Amino acid sequence: MIFLDKAIIVGAFSTRDDFRLYEVEELAKNRGYLIVDKLIQLRRIPHSGYLIGPGKLQELKDKMKKYGVKTVIFVNELKPGQYFRLQKELGLDVNILDRVLLILEIFEQRASTSEAKLQIELARLKYTLPWARELVRLKGFGSEKMGFGSLGGYPYKAYLSFARKRIRLIEEKLEKLRRKEEKLIMRRKEIQLPIVTLTGYTQSGKTTLFNFLTRESKVIGLGPFTTLETCARRVDAHGKSFIIVDSLGFIEEMPQLILDAFHATLIELKLADVIVLLVDVSETPSKMRRKLETSLSIIADIAGSERPIIVAVNKIDLIGDSRLENALKLIKRLAPQHEITIISAKKGVNIDYLLRRIVDKISNLKV
Ligand code: GDP
Ligand code: MG
Repeated sequence: MIFLDKAIIVGAFSTRDDFRLYEVEELAKNRGYLIVDKLIQLRRIPHSGYLIGPGKLQELKDKMKKYGVKTVIFVNELKPGQYFRLQKELGLDVNILDRVLLILEIFEQRASTSEAKLQIELARLKYTLPWARELVRLKGFGSEKMGFGSLGGYPYKAYLSFARKRIRLIEEKLEKLRRKEEKLIMRRKEIQLPIVTLTGYTQSGKTTLFNFLTRESKVIGLGPFTTLETCARRVDAHGKSFIIVDSLGFIEEMPQLILDAFHATLIELKLADVIVLLVDVSETPSKMRRKLETSLSIIADIAGSERPIIVAVNKIDLIGDSRLENALKLIKRLAPQHEITIISAKKGVNIDYLLRRIVDKISNLKV
């Protein structure tokens, strides 16, 4: 893996095991950042000025200097004012990301259609517009330049009017593109092999399973879907061949503003002939239930209700028999119409059985 940049993760939470921290760390690695340190401050209410208190802020500056870091990723979502104060404190050349901007960067990296690209740009413009407004308001801010690392150094007033025009233009373009994307999806038939997409929440084990299944397989050309090629491999098993696709999957607490962009990145689901939905069985029942319900409803929204789904209950190595039994009861109740298979992607348990089930589903596909 090529690392883009060294980064420090910063967060302010009321408990030490806030799930967002793990998720952002995973997402940052996914994006290719090399995480050199994490600065977590326990506080009931985040500091209104800088999210973290002045002491922590100094610590952050020291660490950035020590490691030569120019990217800081905040786990929390930043308010416009916080963003600017931080930019001013840390330096205009520092790339400040929060959870939303990080997610958008990842979407960008994976966007394979022009619709997805535009949706992402639109979300970014809308999300950062209040920051630009704030900058205009905070006249005392030293420089004429916008911080916004990846947005470049527009003078801020020009930026505001540029952003507004661009938002209108993108909205018009998207309207026209919708039909075009439908056509692209039709072209999936140009890919001669069935597509099996791994999906599920971040950390459910998709990539682990993908790597296990594709240890000996080859990279494959995907015609009109070249951007998917990095996460797609051909698998030959039990007399059948298919393409397995690892996907970005679902992210917890997706901010409303980036939902459209998120949906546009789900092309892997739209293309799927068979969907393997991973569930992390080591999580609490309430979390599992919430995630499974959400996953199934997103899949139904994006891919319709016809696609065969295999629910792969993963990480069974982490729990005992009675917990597994209860979890399976819950999952069966939530997904009564789908096939359910238990696996451990990490330990390679039951994977051959899962492959048989996939092949069985492929054999039954209506052409
Ligand atoms: P993804 O975000 O869905 O792609 O999840 P990853 O494949 O990156 O896995 C997330 C974490 O869960 C990693 O630390 C994996 O090593 C771990 N993991 C995945 N599958 C299993 C499993 O079957 N058992 C255990 N114990 N850990 C697993
Ligand atoms: Mg992954």
